[in-house]
Amino acid sequence: MLDIKLKSVVICPQCGYKKEEQMPTDACQYFYECGSCKEILRPTGTDCCVFCSYGSIPCPPIQKNSDCCSSPDIEQIKSI
Ligand SMILES: [Zn+2]
Repeated sequence: MLDIKLKSVVICPQCGYKKEEQMPTDACQYFYECGSCKEILRPTGTDCCVFCSYGSIPCPPIQKNSDCCSSPDIEQIKSI
């Protein structure tokens, strides 16, 4: 069994604020508002979600080594 982690510590690149967040298993989170400076974070580069860009742990689809977000394989993730 794969050990999928559903919590990731998001670190704001603006102010360095850290917060542990629950990640959705059935969708990626594209926007994230920093709890401290209210900066709206977006994924950088080719990353699919804010957890991949700023989190301590990438999002569940990436942990499963599958294509993220737009992939129809999202059904599989729900079975966890
Ligand atoms: Zn911030």
